[in-house]
This record gives sequence, C-alpha cells and structure tokens, in this order.
Amino acid sequence: MSNTERYLRQEKINGWDQDKLASASVMIAGVGGLGSAIATYLVSAGVGTVRLVDSGRVEESNLNRQVLYTEIAVGAPKVDVAAARLGVINSDITIEPVFMSITKNTVTEIAFGADLIIDGLDDDETRHILNKYSVENQIPYLYGAVQEWEGYVSFFNPPITPCLACLNVPRAQEKKQNQQVLGVASGLIGLHQATEALIFLSEGRATLSGKLMIMDCKRHSIEIVSLGIDPSCPVCSGRF
Ligand SMILES: [Zn+2]
Repeated sequence: MSNTERYLRQEKINGWDQDKLASASVMIAGVGGLGSAIATYLVSAGVGTVRLVDSGRVEESNLNRQVLYTEIAVGAPKVDVAAARLGVINSDITIEPVFMSITKNTVTEIAFGADLIIDGLDDDETRHILNKYSVENQIPYLYGAVQEWEGYVSFFNPPITPCLACLNVPRAQEKKQNQQVLGVASGLIGLHQATEALIFLSEGRATLSGKLMIMDCKRHSIEIVSLGIDPSCPVCSGRF
C-alpha cells in the first residue's frame, strides 16, 4: 500500500514529521494490556522500527484487556502473535519480536539502538532495570502503570527530569497474583503513552517530561503533577 495514502490523514498535522517517525526505533517492554494499545497505534502511525519484548505466552485471563490476542492464540508466545497481527496492519515498517525476559543481563541486548523505551510492564523490579539502563545510556523512558480504574504515565529523561528511582511512585505496579486490571484502563493509559511517544518521536519534546499524569478512569479525571529530582537518587544523582 502506498505510504502517501496510508498517512494522508496525519502527515499535514501541525508539527508532525512523518519521515522522522519512519526513522525512529522504539522498544516496547511488555506486550500486555498497555503494550497492545501502544504497539497498535505506533505501528499504525508508521514508527519505523517497533521492537516487542515479552517472555510470556497468551493466557485466557489476558483476554479482558490484551486486545492483540484471541482465544485461538492461548498458549502461543505473545510477541509472535502480536508481531503477526501488527504486521498485517502495517507491512511498511519493521517489527522485531523478542521472546526474552528483561533482566540485568539481557537489557543491553534487548534495548540496544532504541530511541525510546516504552513501559508496558506490570512489575517494579523490571521497571527499575529499564530505568537504570535508560539513565546510563541516556535513552528516554516512557513509564506507564495501571491498577483497577487508575493509571499513571510519566516521561523520564535525566538530567532534564527525575528518573523512576527518584520517586515514590504509586505502588500499583507491584507484581502480585491476580492483580486487578480493567481493560479500558489499560487501553486509555496505553493510548496516553502512545500519544506521548508520537509527540516525542515527531517533535523531539515530551509533554509529560518531569510530570506524572494520574488518571482516574471512573471519574474521567486527569491530574498532572510536577516531579522533583532527588539529589541523592542512587541511579541518576551525580551522573551528569
Ligand atoms: Zn533518579
């Protein structure tokens, strides 16, 4: 399909740079509820390279929110199913499925070359591994988390902003069994992350830089609070 036609309804938007988007590379950590929304919209918008990282397989309990998957995909690696689905949405870009866990030992291989690290995770431990890599390599880290009706988004890019370790972020993202997550909340927060990614990749700035967006989906309310840098942060302090 002609790219001219595919991007016809977005390429003249004020501030938009389709070529810049086409040359951009993002790493999406986790292709679950957040990642399904993030990946679908970034692929559709024409981000040039989208790396999908997840070591999970599709489970029936994913289907309330992880909209890339169907019942027949249960048991299959999420990244393979997601890459196949996304590849037929946009065959002009590169989609890289990576069926691996993100650990201190694998993060460099997994995140290498990305212009932006996008958080589609559900646990703090992995988030802090990504945060540390982000700070050490000066790759911005677009954070997102959801619990029940609430969600959070921030854009970490030290030394301009704090890093994740500077904050006492809401503990909604502690990994636990049978965590309660509503599909629409994952979708809404994932779309805010996708929006922020498109702003950054196209315009080189981020609206939520140094800010935390707190969304109460039930009240349809959004609060945005400024975040402070912790001068004694164990990850970013004294590094720049
Ligand atoms: Zn920090």
